[in-house]
Amino acid sequence: MNQLNNITIKHCPCHSGKSYEQCCRLFHLDFYQAQTAEDLMRSRFTAFAIGSMNSENQKFFEQYLLQDLASENETGRDATGYFH
Ligand SMILES: [Zn+2]
Repeated sequence: MNQLNNITIKHCPCHSGKSYEQCCRLFHLDFYQAQTAEDLMRSRFTAFAIGSMNSENQKFFEQYLLQDLASENETGRDATGYFH
């Protein structure tokens, strides 16, 4: 079951130049953990951007953003994704 399969976006909202499928969707599906602060910020921005224009998947992205905030509190990163 993959609820993001129905989203096809030629240009990922994070401006990576890749399609969403080859970019932030991988983070959103937890195939890859976002490794750098930049990846984290990109994947979050995209979650926010797609969530706000795609009501069908809005809940999923809200969940993604909430999970991310929770793990952030544990690792001591602030809202920008950088370590203190
Ligand atoms: Zn992206």
